[in-house]
Amino acid sequence: MTRITIAKGDGIGPEIMEATLKVLNAAGAALEYDEIEVGEKVYLSGNTSGISNEAWDIIRRNKVFLKSPITTPQGGGYKSLNVTTRKFLGLYANIRPCTSLHPFVQTKHPTMDLVIVRENEEDLYAGIEHQQTDEVIQCLKLISRPGCEKIVRYAFEYAKQYGRKKVTCFSKDNIMKQTDGLFHQVFNEIALEYPEIETEHWIIDIGAALIADSPERFDVIVMANLYGDIVSDIAAQITGSVGLAGSANIGEECAMFEAIHGSAPMIAGQNIANPSGLLQGAIQMLAHIGQVEIAETIQNAWLTTIEQGIHTADIYNESVSTKKVGTQEFADAVIDNLGKKPGELKAVIYEKGSSMVLKKYERKPARNKELVGVDLFIHWAGTNPNELADKIHQLTVESAELSMITNRGIKVYPDGFPETFCTDHWRCRFKNPNGLFTKKQIMDLMGNAEELGLDVIKTENLYHFDGKPAFSLGQGQ
Ligand code: NAD
Repeated sequence: MTRITIAKGDGIGPEIMEATLKVLNAAGAALEYDEIEVGEKVYLSGNTSGISNEAWDIIRRNKVFLKSPITTPQGGGYKSLNVTTRKFLGLYANIRPCTSLHPFVQTKHPTMDLVIVRENEEDLYAGIEHQQTDEVIQCLKLISRPGCEKIVRYAFEYAKQYGRKKVTCFSKDNIMKQTDGLFHQVFNEIALEYPEIETEHWIIDIGAALIADSPERFDVIVMANLYGDIVSDIAAQITGSVGLAGSANIGEECAMFEAIHGSAPMIAGQNIANPSGLLQGAIQMLAHIGQVEIAETIQNAWLTTIEQGIHTADIYNESVSTKKVGTQEFADAVIDNLGKKPGELKAVIYEKGSSMVLKKYERKPARNKELVGVDLFIHWAGTNPNELADKIHQLTVESAELSMITNRGIKVYPDGFPETFCTDHWRCRFKNPNGLFTKKQIMDLMGNAEELGLDVIKTENLYHFDGKPAFSLGQGQ
């Protein structure tokens, strides 16, 4: 028996939860439930996060959370419960299966059946942004080795459990050689542990184009947060059945499962909503906690029901549907089909036996880290880089030589092009031509800059790790 937390949410939430639990119970899922209140009522009671401390305690105790959609009240100040939950519980993986149900749901991609595994915690979503000059704001893209290892390993383990054959990695390491380079490198390293699974890599732009054109060529695709956010919506949309999809948010300790749609307040309370999205989330939950056979049985019963043409109003289509049913009647039809397998749609077969076993991240031994220089970022309203270089040369710190100036990453000194457009945000790189750099040199550079009236807005240390440069060069070098 697994004790899980459920939240019935707002709008259509309670009715789709009732339908989903009915199916889980009829299929013999070994579950006990603790119900918590989240969403609109909690927000409107003055709690800006939409969830009470007591509810958090229950979620953390049970570790598995099945959540109906909630309504976020209009107006400022209310925090997204989904974002808060992901961050607080360390739900690092977002899993979104995108499968066509052709010919029962219209799509241009009848055989599409892929799963997006999106890193959920880091990348540009770390939410670290700063305005540094009048004209420039920065958002930090943080990619960590544990973040990459956890998500990539999850993608491979997922492929194993769900009987999938190939894992593809999307990245943009032709441009972001360090951050996306790490993601790609970790993918290659972990792929070696799964020789039975085919692997491939695409640069994200052409990869996304291939999804839009021929999604059937993909199986499981793993990618960093921002790419996954965008690509998973595209992929779900082109199945033609975005309203039928569920998603899982997985952490090392806790996990949350839900439908991808919202609370649809306009149709609430009328027994017409489609419970399939939440049911799909619940099926992922059962597989996650090791009740894999029951997950498989329900999924095959659900496919059979769709194939029989027993449809809720949102997908009802006279040419393929045989019966228009309400929320609860749809659930009853799925229950009647427990034990059956679809004929036309592909029946699912999941790996039985246990829940996924994910190796915990192990920190690697520290590498040899050497300081070899510094980038001084300067707010300067001039336009001619040679003028700035003249000022920077006056900083005169021993063995600290200006090697280049870039503006938005493009080298503008020495030998810049007068055509290059420059903002007020300049990176001035210093290196020691004779060897290593010191923190004292950095402090002296900053002290001298202050005396000269140069506005240093930040510094970045330049390191070699195990003798290799671990920073980007200026474009144009
Ligand atoms: P929505 O997904 O609720 O509705 C979009 C359209 O799809 C509507 O026409 C709706 O009637 C229909 N629809 C959605 N789910 C359906 C279902 N199961 N069966 C039949 N039709 C369905 O999106 P929205 O209207 O933009 O948002 C409504 C509310 O939901 C907002 O308050 C929003 O903040 C919230 N929301 C919550 C979540 C979540 O809790 N995870 C996600 C998205 C939106």
